[in-house]
Amino acid sequence: MKRQPEDHLARDNERGNTEISRHVFFCFWYATRDTLAHAPRGNRMGIAALASILALMLFGDPGAPATPATMRIDYFHTGNHEIEMFSLEQVVIEPTLWSGNMHSPLDTTFRGKYLFEIVDPESGAIAWSRGFSSIYGEWETTAEARSMNRTMHESVRFPVQENEFELVLSKRGPGNDFIEIWRIAIDPNDYMVHRESARYADQVIAIHTGGDPANKVDLLLLGDGYTAAEQDEFLAKAREMTDVLFATSPFKERKDDFNVWALAPEAAESGISRPSTNIYRDSPVGSTYDAFRSERYVLTFDNKSMRRIASSVPYDFLEILTNTETYGGGGIYGLFSTAAANGEWSPYVFVHEFGHHFAGLADEYYTSSVAYESPAEIVEPYEPNVTALLDPDNLKWKHLVAPNTPLPTPWPKAEFEEHSIAVQERRAKMREDDVPESEMNELFRFTKNHVENLFSTSEHRNSVGAFEGANYQADSYYRSEQNCMMFTRHERFCLVCRAAINKVIDEYALIPE
Ligand SMILES: [Zn+2]
Repeated sequence: MKRQPEDHLARDNERGNTEISRHVFFCFWYATRDTLAHAPRGNRMGIAALASILALMLFGDPGAPATPATMRIDYFHTGNHEIEMFSLEQVVIEPTLWSGNMHSPLDTTFRGKYLFEIVDPESGAIAWSRGFSSIYGEWETTAEARSMNRTMHESVRFPVQENEFELVLSKRGPGNDFIEIWRIAIDPNDYMVHRESARYADQVIAIHTGGDPANKVDLLLLGDGYTAAEQDEFLAKAREMTDVLFATSPFKERKDDFNVWALAPEAAESGISRPSTNIYRDSPVGSTYDAFRSERYVLTFDNKSMRRIASSVPYDFLEILTNTETYGGGGIYGLFSTAAANGEWSPYVFVHEFGHHFAGLADEYYTSSVAYESPAEIVEPYEPNVTALLDPDNLKWKHLVAPNTPLPTPWPKAEFEEHSIAVQERRAKMREDDVPESEMNELFRFTKNHVENLFSTSEHRNSVGAFEGANYQADSYYRSEQNCMMFTRHERFCLVCRAAINKVIDEYALIPE
């Protein structure tokens, strides 16, 4: 059903102030962008300077570097468990200006399985770098990668460069050091660089406005599987999830460092694919349950569609809200996170998965089944919130550990595992039997209460230490506190996770004195 004009008006009245701020932002972003995109060759710098003047007039940040256009490199990542290769698909100028922080060109967090760098071929100087992870990087650790080749579409985004540059991709090797795996020369002034249009600009809603996108974390909530008639439901969910995020520390204390945008391209049919129950949808963003055949793992493999939709918004991070009830989600560092929006546990899943996507946090749980195979050799993981405890004297969060806390730190591990493994078996059986979601919710409530009770009397319930069991392994890896949102369906992030999140907020929002 197509929405009637009266509905538009009613919705606009409801939106009130957010509508006005949206208007201000987009007048600016699209005005400058259109000028840039249609500039005659060779005149782009002059126009870029004009854009920066407009930016100064509008946002008043003297001393801030000029806001450049956004460049995206789309490529294919192909291989199996032994080999991999990369091939260029398209170089794109996105329709919105760069929303990353020009004060933080180099990534200092050293997270993610991969690292991309924008390098000057003459001097070797690095103009931009960011760590990231990818679906391919996960897939190559699954059993399927031993039996076939696959290809995933990927992108890197960065501020447009004036002159020819090299994109250099590196990957973690043994010991987790970065090793170069791909290098390609790119001419940003080549007429084959595509100028993408902001096709969805008039559908973008500002949910929360902190200020100039250039110095804020810009989070896009991208709805998938919402029909024209379900747009108001999407907006209500987007607002609800934003409220939950900003009720959770450390996001709570850093709310002013964020802009939150919402967009749900109209779907022909409600919902997303769930192949294990024979549900198939051609939803706009392409999200699907059963990623890597894991029933609760929701991802989109249609990176091109996702990017073409998202580029109508100045975004640094994006979480896909799927119009579904069945428990599920996913989160990949620097790529996206997902959460089924209509379930009882959606607020928890939303924030947990955002922790993966935003800060590269590892899962601290280890009793749920995953598709990944166990590592052959245990090395110190790069994720900030788990450790192999190979050198207890130099634990990466030792500044938070009280002197008398034993390492490893005792906790009721055997009791937890007995309960948790029994619950996982029950859960698998219930999914097999396709029981109503209300029964699954009840199981999750039961197990949450059980675990919180068990943990409430443990000696080290308030300690920071090294608690064995994390990162999908019952032994070999340790987490910093007994409980955390990345471990169970708990309401709070541990202190180590909070510090890791704050570091990323700083990278996107901090302006040096
Ligand atoms: Zn944690």
